[in-house]
Amino acid sequence: MSAIRLGDLELTSLFDGYFRLDGGAMFGVVPKPLWERRAPADDRNRIALAMRPLLVRGKQTMVIDAGAGNKMDAKSTDIYAIDRHRNIVHSLADAGLSVGDIEIALASHLHFDHAGGFTTRSVSGEIRPTFPNARYVVRDQEWADATHPHERNRASYLQDDFVPLETAGVLDLVSGDAEIMPGVRVRWTGGHARSHQVVMIESGGRTAVFTADMIPTTAHVDEPWIMGYDLYPMETLAFKRAFVREAIDREYLIFFEHDPKVAAGYIREKDGRKYVEPLA
Ligand SMILES: [Zn+2]
Repeated sequence: MSAIRLGDLELTSLFDGYFRLDGGAMFGVVPKPLWERRAPADDRNRIALAMRPLLVRGKQTMVIDAGAGNKMDAKSTDIYAIDRHRNIVHSLADAGLSVGDIEIALASHLHFDHAGGFTTRSVSGEIRPTFPNARYVVRDQEWADATHPHERNRASYLQDDFVPLETAGVLDLVSGDAEIMPGVRVRWTGGHARSHQVVMIESGGRTAVFTADMIPTTAHVDEPWIMGYDLYPMETLAFKRAFVREAIDREYLIFFEHDPKVAAGYIREKDGRKYVEPLA
């Protein structure tokens, strides 16, 4: 997808490859005969998902999330069917950039499919920040949760994805719904994780939103379509109910981080039915 101009900002949906997760876990209480129509399962009951970080060029050059990165071992690569044949390095190059051009890397949250790409394993086996000139911005409470995982979220928080950032001195912890750069602010959602956040991008009277795991694919726009992974599903429901209304009324451009086909679009409503009009 080519760059989208939003006032003073330029937005480009990046791509860090495909992966697969259990279809039942992706749709929670929704029965398979219903979700399978939107997201067909493979012979291991997994559905196809993408990883789509967002590039924001404004006062500074920022990425929001960074995909899974290159540190997965063979077993996890197989379980999650990680396919990074084309990845964030290629899509940055398509946008005329390299990893050294990124000045801010902002996390929606620190699960591996979002923060894995924050660090890279070199040929010598050393783990370093992927973006050598960037400050990494993480919500303080998310940092606390990620570095003290419990049984329910331990498989999602892989310490090598983010602890090396602190060691390298490139970590900025931020409290609350802060403005990260002009026109870009984070907004707490909870739901998926205690401190999960979406990113509101506003310029020239228009708003775009990076919804991360609050609305990971276009199939998750409907209120009860909530991931089984969510730690606080009633928070997801409450946020989504208010947010989807707001997105329709104010014509937000939504970036879907995990949709295998649709990188961005508008949520519309017709005859009481909500649907996504993909960005042409
Ligand atoms: Zn995710």
